[in-house]
Amino acid sequence: MLTQFRLTVLSIFGLTLVQCLFVVALGGTIELDIRPGKGVTHQKMLSDYYPPFKNTNFDTPIFFLQGEKPGITGLAIGGTHPNELAGQVAALVMVEKGEVRVGRLIVIPYANRSALSVKDTQYGVAPLHEILTKTGIRYLPYGDRRTDIKDQQQDDPRVYTNPGGYTLKNGKEARNLNRAYPGKVDGTPTEQLAYAIIKMIEAESIEFCVDFHEARTLDEHKTDKTDNGYPSRRLAYTLVSNPKATELAAISLLDMEEDTGVTMKLEESNTRYRGLSHLEIGNATNCLSFLTESPNPGQDKWREDADVINDMKYPLVHRVGIHLRVFINLANVISEEFGKPFTVKGIPEYEALLKGDIGMFLN
Ligand SMILES: [Zn+2]
Repeated sequence: MLTQFRLTVLSIFGLTLVQCLFVVALGGTIELDIRPGKGVTHQKMLSDYYPPFKNTNFDTPIFFLQGEKPGITGLAIGGTHPNELAGQVAALVMVEKGEVRVGRLIVIPYANRSALSVKDTQYGVAPLHEILTKTGIRYLPYGDRRTDIKDQQQDDPRVYTNPGGYTLKNGKEARNLNRAYPGKVDGTPTEQLAYAIIKMIEAESIEFCVDFHEARTLDEHKTDKTDNGYPSRRLAYTLVSNPKATELAAISLLDMEEDTGVTMKLEESNTRYRGLSHLEIGNATNCLSFLTESPNPGQDKWREDADVINDMKYPLVHRVGIHLRVFINLANVISEEFGKPFTVKGIPEYEALLKGDIGMFLN
């Protein structure tokens, strides 16, 4: 009896130790493993545009790929929801392999770095995923959908101040960056994060931006009645466009289908559903704003052990390819519309991605 008791105490103690080590490794501002390629001409931090974020869990690197000749400026945003792995990895591929010849590409791989520092609270996907690159083993981080509760309390009274309304009645969604746009300088930390990104978009005169996301796969057979009060929708394989740019988005999707054989749905921002990047960035600035959704097995409720890298049907290379090719096709269509060129090399073709492992497209 005594021995059994001791064992129980020991194992509880052991578990606590393991958990402590885990928190030390991943709590706070986690160190980011980003290996910029030769196409990156300079780098800034979000705090360069919003100084209060200096030395906080919200500061995050921004990479610039400046062409030799002027042209259009586009922004790729990964990591709005750090549990949507393909978004941040598509952004990493741009930073590590892209080389802009004409125009300018700006990339934020981890938009909500606070949320990246939290383990996935929705589906319990592991926080680090091993891949093999030419330089050896590296780990892709996988975080949570929302800002770390250590950085923003759920009961922060400021969560009720967004004019949009319904999502912010839910304390949890108040920590969701993609409900916080266009942000507020005196708002919650997550609203300030959205505000900082808007300031950066204005300061850099960005002409179009794509916010990379993932959603449950088409194989999700458990039907949810609601998604924060709205009927559940199938989001994977969708491009959402600000109403100002729907026509351009439609043309880009036709090109996308020809380019990859992947059919994407087109949706226009619902103007009553406030706080989302595709609606609010386009409305608050001169930047045409879009959002892409790829299918992530890590967001299917019925899967017990989702493989977010090598799933047979929805491998990471397929999902990363969707974001990269939608971005390039949008860039081409917008570039033609504005009469401002854009040429980028090094971004892998969809077919090439499908033939390889993701590690081949990172440094
Ligand atoms: Zn998302």
